[in-house]
Amino acid sequence: MENYTLRYSDIRKPNSLRAKARNLVLSVLIFKQNLKGIEKYLVVPRIQFLYIHHAFADELTQLDQLMQVLSKHHTFISHSEAVERILNNQIDKPYIALSTDDGFKNNMAAAQIFNKYDAKACFFINPGLIDEHDFETIKTHCKVKLHLPPVEFLTWQDVNELLAQGHEIGAHTMYHDNIANMSEQAIEEDMKLSYEILNKNCGPVTHFAFPYGRFSHFNKTGKELVFKVGYQTCSSAERGCHIPSSSELKQKDLCIRRDHVILDWPMDHIIYFLVNNVKNRSEKNNYFPY
Ligand SMILES: [Zn+2]
Repeated sequence: MENYTLRYSDIRKPNSLRAKARNLVLSVLIFKQNLKGIEKYLVVPRIQFLYIHHAFADELTQLDQLMQVLSKHHTFISHSEAVERILNNQIDKPYIALSTDDGFKNNMAAAQIFNKYDAKACFFINPGLIDEHDFETIKTHCKVKLHLPPVEFLTWQDVNELLAQGHEIGAHTMYHDNIANMSEQAIEEDMKLSYEILNKNCGPVTHFAFPYGRFSHFNKTGKELVFKVGYQTCSSAERGCHIPSSSELKQKDLCIRRDHVILDWPMDHIIYFLVNNVKNRSEKNNYFPY
């Protein structure tokens, strides 16, 4: 029987020791930080990229609340506009650029909420999984690559609907593989194929985000190939925000940092990460470590 996961409560493990420890540590840090003084950080001009993976039915209220809280101090801009602003040193106020990774069907519900706030997001998808309807294939993929129970993926019709709503589509490799474990030839073939398929189905697709997102899941070879095959931007999932560079920043040197958000996290934990990014802001964040 096809039993797709529809609710985050089916995945969440609230009583795990790890979750408890994490919440405790964050609560202590937040207490020390004195959240009453956060406003002065949130008004700092910068570009903050935020991304989610899923927006299950029981996470939509939290997404709406998050958008509401963020909209108080930030202007939502598209991934493309955010990149333009970083490259052209046009960071005159606090901006947020939203994205999602992995292309789950429930991203359609997230888009509805983004639309409510007139926010254009970039959906990073794996073209090899779009329109995949074989339950066993999806089950295995979610378990092996994403460490999740089976979650339904977008169709090409959904993808085109997102584009029609004004959102952007980005690439996330064909099948969500760890680029750090691939040969140069395999990376190039995979990137070329995803570029070809996405540009055929979606019009110009110029954004790329590497799977798993930490610097250890990528390398110099991967970075160079992203731009060689035709993509124009490359995103990580390393935390941080972007401020202007004092010297000329070339497109192929820009390493986009994105903060991961799970909508189930307490709001003050999400805000804690944003404030922390402002405190640690540095133009070094605009560059790759390799
Ligand atoms: Zn991913």
